[in-house]
Amino acid sequence: MGNKQILITNDDGIFAPGLAALVSALTGLGDITVVAPLSEKSAVGHAITISDPLRVQEISKDNRFFGYAVNGTPADCVKLGSRCLMPVRPDLVVSGINLGPNTATNIIYSGTVSAAAEGTIMGIASIAVSLASFHSSDFSFAAGIARRVAGEVLQRGLPEGTLLNVNVPAVSPEEVAGIQITRQGRGRYEEAFDKRVDPNRRTYYWLTGKRMILDEEPDLDDRAVLENKVSITPIRYALTDESFLGELKTWDFSLQE
Ligand code: MN
Repeated sequence: MGNKQILITNDDGIFAPGLAALVSALTGLGDITVVAPLSEKSAVGHAITISDPLRVQEISKDNRFFGYAVNGTPADCVKLGSRCLMPVRPDLVVSGINLGPNTATNIIYSGTVSAAAEGTIMGIASIAVSLASFHSSDFSFAAGIARRVAGEVLQRGLPEGTLLNVNVPAVSPEEVAGIQITRQGRGRYEEAFDKRVDPNRRTYYWLTGKRMILDEEPDLDDRAVLENKVSITPIRYALTDESFLGELKTWDFSLQE
């Protein structure tokens, strides 16, 4: 049996420090192939590219081959990487380490989590890792967590269709209050549009938002991170509302008038 094949990607782009930290952390767990967007693709969700060509660029760092940059989305990177750029299909997809948390409602918009979701669609065990800060440059603790989780997943596997969404608080290791298995919260940003004027006196808008936690339950992802805990949530995309299915069947949708 050969080495485990690991595909590493992200949504912050191939030059992001969080990606480099993840690559270092997972070195030794298997054969690593980096396939990541050429430029930042945060909040593109699960978008894929179907109307434009995908081009691949080989990127070197310190005169050594580092990985493949793709002019597409994180989901494109997982599809193209595992089908065309890796020698064999990966055993594991790891996406991150994202700069900024991916908890609660943000999961839907997240390119980081969507890359992992793409892995699960392809039947590959997948993990998303995010650091809960938009400006920290210290990925070392999160990288250690990523390695622990990746090692465990390689050993145990995951249920088909389920990914692990890992969020790490941006505090010093001594301040971390443990690891909590969580559920997705329903918290969302309190959003506002900053209305501005460009040099040509045309109005433009920039989406801004501040954090808002809506739920009080103790085992939610956003709350765990707020309490300086590492949050690990098993996520699966099954969008049917089972609780409403029965009632909807009683509605009158008959084709005859
Ligand atoms: Mn990002």
